[in-house]
Amino acid sequence: CGIVGYVGSRGSIDVLLGGLKRLEYRGYDSAGVAVIDDSGHLGTRKHAGKLGILTDDLGATPLTDGHTGIGHTRWATHGGPTDENAHPHLGDGGKLALIHNGIIENFAALKEELLAAGHSFTSETDTEVAALLVGDAFRRTGDLTAAMLEVVNRLDGAFTLLAVHADQPGVVVGARRNSPLVIGLGEGENFLGSDVAAFVEYTHHAMEIGQDQLVTIRPDSVEVVDFAGTPVTPPTFEVDWDA
Ligand code: GLU
Repeated sequence: CGIVGYVGSRGSIDVLLGGLKRLEYRGYDSAGVAVIDDSGHLGTRKHAGKLGILTDDLGATPLTDGHTGIGHTRWATHGGPTDENAHPHLGDGGKLALIHNGIIENFAALKEELLAAGHSFTSETDTEVAALLVGDAFRRTGDLTAAMLEVVNRLDGAFTLLAVHADQPGVVVGARRNSPLVIGLGEGENFLGSDVAAFVEYTHHAMEIGQDQLVTIRPDSVEVVDFAGTPVTPPTFEVDWDA
């Protein structure tokens, strides 16, 4: 339901939790974060219930912070509001984390395919098929942008997807179809959000991502392509918001 992504020099957990807090008005039933720490390890934490449950848990048992991360608040559509069904979902043996807004209409067929290939599932969500598919594609391509591009072309329905991989710290890849995604442009840092509320505290300089487009953010670059892989230059705008 709410989505935030960050790459830069700040501690990512504060940025993610702050962004999720600002997206709370949209409503949600679960919350979670994934962070790549400086030793290239992916850590995740997620809980059913209010953001405060996640925040308190991170306070009591901290996750090693880093400078690359994604955060999600979930409004359950497939699978009840449980810790297991909360996002992020994992792929590539726990090295990839993915979050999703929307509904993947053809998830049942993709799940059959993944089960036949020997994968097991830890949730009842439609989202986990995307996490496992992007994980498998990463193993083949070694590149998160290429892996995401391959998989979004196999998904039907509505989705905003964000993913990070432990082998590519400093990179967050996002994609959107029938669901919103906005880029927040910073100095030596960049943000992604399901709406500008996710990053308005840090930057008012933003870029609109069009339908069926995919973005790769790094601390010093933003690259957008359409789902065919052709580079595009989306319009920028200034967020009119007194934060
Ligand atoms: N369909 C996904 C799920 O049920 C994502 C829901 C959302 O947009 O938060 O987990």
